[in-house]
Amino acid sequence: MKSVAGVRKYSGAGTDWAAWLLGIGLGLTLALQATTMRHSDITSVYAVIASVSRAAALVGTYFAIVGIFLVARIPWVERGVGHDRLVTWHRKLGPWSLYLIGFHVLFIVLSFAGQDHVALAVEMWRMLGNFEWMWWALAGFILMVAAGVTSYKKARAKMSYETWWTVHVLTYSAIAASFMHQVVNGQMFIGHPLNRAYWTFLYVAMGFSILWWRIGIPLVRSLRHNLRVEKVVVEGPGVISVVMKGRKLTELAAEGGQFFGWRFAAKGHFLMSHPYSLSAAPTAHYLRITVKDLGDHSRSLASLSAGTRVFVEGPYGAFTAGRATMPHVVLVGGGVGITPVRALMDEFKNGVQMDVIYRASRKEDLVLKEELDYLEYHSNGSIRVHYLVGSRKEHPMDAKSLKALVPRIADADIYICGPGPLVEAVKAAADDLGVPKNRFHDEAFAFHNE
Ligand SMILES: Cc1cc2nc3c(=O)[nH]c(=O)nc-3n(C[C@H](O)[C@H](O)[C@H](O)COP(=O)(O)OP(=O)(O)OC[C@H]3O[C@@H](n4cnc5c(N)ncnc54)[C@H](O)[C@@H]3O)c2cc1C
Repeated sequence: MKSVAGVRKYSGAGTDWAAWLLGIGLGLTLALQATTMRHSDITSVYAVIASVSRAAALVGTYFAIVGIFLVARIPWVERGVGHDRLVTWHRKLGPWSLYLIGFHVLFIVLSFAGQDHVALAVEMWRMLGNFEWMWWALAGFILMVAAGVTSYKKARAKMSYETWWTVHVLTYSAIAASFMHQVVNGQMFIGHPLNRAYWTFLYVAMGFSILWWRIGIPLVRSLRHNLRVEKVVVEGPGVISVVMKGRKLTELAAEGGQFFGWRFAAKGHFLMSHPYSLSAAPTAHYLRITVKDLGDHSRSLASLSAGTRVFVEGPYGAFTAGRATMPHVVLVGGGVGITPVRALMDEFKNGVQMDVIYRASRKEDLVLKEELDYLEYHSNGSIRVHYLVGSRKEHPMDAKSLKALVPRIADADIYICGPGPLVEAVKAAADDLGVPKNRFHDEAFAFHNE
């Protein structure tokens, strides 16, 4: 399907497909328990508690596996649903998985302790000794709790991104560690090869998608395209652009507005990948990012030397021209959020009318200004750039002020990338102006802070 921008348009059907698949999987998972219940599972209170806790474990584990699929960077899922939305679902599902598995651990011990008439601690010790693979399951549970605690907003704010990320990634091992105790001890698996095959399939598919899409494909593609740093350009106070050169880059099928996870083969950069949006539409040989110094990683990009090898994961994101439905678009960039907006400007074709609103606190923060002016000057009137420099009081970004700036804004598609409060203000203004939700497109510059 083609959109007004003349580029590929995403239908949104991906969300429906994802919901259907997840629902079917949840149904099958609950069926594992429902179809293997015995009469003895409902003859005492403790037996019922054990059954409920097993169901909680199944659903909790299913949610954990789905959570990993959601961030496995499966290309058609990313394109159909949108990276931001997938990460939001992942974040919402995570705590439920932990609650359900925590419920299972507590209540399965309680139910066995009740039946054996012993204290909880004694029963727990017995279970660790009597059932196979229980120590692994316990280790997995402890890792899950650690990931949960470190993801809690207040705890997260106190640690570096790197620490949070390392603990978080350990949940993969946590989920894997619990597998054997389930299939060896679970009554829904013992003597039920089909159930065991389904459960094993989920784990194998999860492992495969991580190895394939998050590690294998990015590695092979990066080597194949031989991407290397060409130069680093200072754009303004604390802002630099990194220009990278490679071969056959059109095969990456990236679009302006999208982002990659970037990993530079330089000291202090290789172990962690950081997300940055393209700040110009990609060409056959060049990619460019523009980065604001916000911490260790972004700051040290300034010292990258020419020739440094670059590994990329992506492209990701649905902040693309193909989402537009109207022949008039309003592109709003706040601060360094101008980077994907600048790249998007290269993507709109077929005479699409563009109003670009660049919001910054100080004049010196207006990076890439020369490029925006150049594009406006050569656009035959199809691009208008509005610079809004100053305080929030001066530029409230509400419906009234936006309409004064762009009188036909209610008939446009609105794109915004910038700090959370700016995105929220423009979202509220779009609602007030009656812009339907499908014509509002935003990109957040934080994976896990909301
Ligand atoms: C989709 C997306 C696109 C982005 N595009 C750009 C861009 O074009 N230009 C730009 O300047 N910045 C961009 N960012 C933000 C950029 O990734 C972070 O500023 C950068 O990773 C900070 O790392 P640091 O070590 O320098 O800072 P830190 O001191 O570690 O962190 C500074 C802030 O960035 C957050 N952060 C750090 N690392 C990551 C990470 N890997 N993933 C998510 N959040 C992280 C932290 O939670 C913290 O709020 C983008 C972020 C996302 C999610």
